[in-house]
Amino acid sequence: MPKLLLAGDIGGTKTLLGLFEPAPRRPRLLDARSFATLEYSDLNEIIDAFLTQTGQRPDRVAAASFGVAGPVIDEAADLTNVPWRVDARHVRKHFDFERVVLLNDLQAMAYGVSVLDDSEVVVLQKGEPQPGGNIAIIAAGTGLGEALLHDIEGRRVPSPSEGGHADFAARTEREFALARDLIRRYGRVDVEHVISGRGLLNIHRVSHRSPCLALTDLDDPTAPAIITTAALERRCPGCIETLDTFVDAYGAEAGNLALRSVSTGGVFIGGGIAPKILPALQNGAFMRAFCEKPPLDAMLRAMPVKVILNEQAGLLGAAVFANSWSLT
Ligand SMILES: [Zn+2]
Repeated sequence: MPKLLLAGDIGGTKTLLGLFEPAPRRPRLLDARSFATLEYSDLNEIIDAFLTQTGQRPDRVAAASFGVAGPVIDEAADLTNVPWRVDARHVRKHFDFERVVLLNDLQAMAYGVSVLDDSEVVVLQKGEPQPGGNIAIIAAGTGLGEALLHDIEGRRVPSPSEGGHADFAARTEREFALARDLIRRYGRVDVEHVISGRGLLNIHRVSHRSPCLALTDLDDPTAPAIITTAALERRCPGCIETLDTFVDAYGAEAGNLALRSVSTGGVFIGGGIAPKILPALQNGAFMRAFCEKPPLDAMLRAMPVKVILNEQAGLLGAAVFANSWSLT
């Protein structure tokens, strides 16, 4: 029986685990399941539940690779709002897997972009990809993640980043007003305060001059989705302005990341929000904010920009990383 790969995408709310069969280019998904992270006392318990549900013994697993939403330092990571640490050594010891690695979640997603099919992405800007160019990935969901794929002597090597916590750069009167409100509230404004699910709520607060026609409870966990749906269906002027501001800021930050990484190989937009607001990303505002950065606007206009539709791109990327061991 061939050995299998275990991959995971570990978030503060949800943990997705998948079993894959090694393959030359793209490992083949056999089974994936989602778990409520906080219902378990550590990662080993979630893995145990997954292996039991799928009827697999731990000794069938050759390698395990997990993406986590946070910085990985010395094989371990802390997740916001999760009371336990994720530690690769605990997993290795408990299950006796040959290899276990923790990656930052966006670094994991970066391993996945090279194997995505055309049907799994939507092109926002065709551009002209440079064969040896770097690639950048930005992903807004619960938080904001950023990662780079550097071209190092012909091999693309993912590099993690905590760029989502770098400072937000306001450019317009609307963004200055937002930044002033957020500085009052949080002391400083990082990019994630604007470009994330929580960012939509923050923008919502300053975008309504009359009561919101769509949302009554800002603490509702589905509030960001209620705002974006109301905006796309043109049901509330304040929500329309919220989404417009969000899309402008998202495009501008994707452009900042592209400048910092000279990502002439392409820019990928991942995360849970982009596929849900696709019409708003395609109306031209996102790419205008992305490109309007003279003197390098021509370079930015030549970069391919794509939205990732595969919601399991992070899980797939972790599996691609584990798969690369099985090929060596
Ligand atoms: Zn509204």
